[in-house]
Amino acid sequence: MNPVEVYKLLPKSNCGECASATCIAFAVGITRGEAKVEECPYLDEEIRQKLRNVKPVNWREELVKRLQKEVRQLDLRQVSKDIGAEMEGDSLKIVCLGTEYTVSPEGEITSKGYINSWIKVLLLHYIRTWGKGRVVNSWVSFSELKSGMIKASSFSRDCEEPLRRLFDTHLSSIDPVLARFGAKRIEHEATEYAWKLYVLPKIPVLILYWKSEDETDSSALRVLFDRSADRFLDVESLIFLIEGFVSILSRYLEFSKKH
Ligand code: SF4
Repeated sequence: MNPVEVYKLLPKSNCGECASATCIAFAVGITRGEAKVEECPYLDEEIRQKLRNVKPVNWREELVKRLQKEVRQLDLRQVSKDIGAEMEGDSLKIVCLGTEYTVSPEGEITSKGYINSWIKVLLLHYIRTWGKGRVVNSWVSFSELKSGMIKASSFSRDCEEPLRRLFDTHLSSIDPVLARFGAKRIEHEATEYAWKLYVLPKIPVLILYWKSEDETDSSALRVLFDRSADRFLDVESLIFLIEGFVSILSRYLEFSKKH
């Protein structure tokens, strides 16, 4: 069942009593496996049973297929020169967060390192965006990027805040873990805690962290981008990129704490 078919079975009152707030959002949530049938109190048992049988669609895998189709239309040799990747035979080699990935002309991605649908979406989107130009070595905040102002609060809430909390908790062990992602600790006039990290070949980021000095003072963290970043990924994709990085970093930090 697709979201429209699910929606037709709902009360369509948009009463807002479920976590999805509207019936259409609830329908989308059901098809993605993110909403629970029991959240809507207005469904009879027969409809509930039908909705329980809806097979959730993995939207990331669906997106991967769409992006692969687009990448198949591209001349990877031409693209590689502009996006900072290399060619090996007719496949493209690209480094993301310190790990090398191979992308075949069919858009299939392989690696000896960590791979999931998040990284596939990211790499394919970076390739199909086919940004051009140089990294200009001038750091700007997210809101200074093209359309960044509109999404600045999402970036702060979904990327910088969770990253700050990770740094608060794991500061003493963060250096070797960041190094696994290819990050280099650098000197910076604003803080002693500064790292430069190439999340993608043409997308370096600067992470600046300020530790809290006492109970009256709170810590702070900023993620800065090269001024050219929006040529290589749009701001929504940059949020997707940093959110994913925070999630992987969190798992690595938890793992390194236990071992
Ligand atoms: S609780 Fe049910 S009726 Fe209300 S908005 Fe959600 S899906 Fe629609």
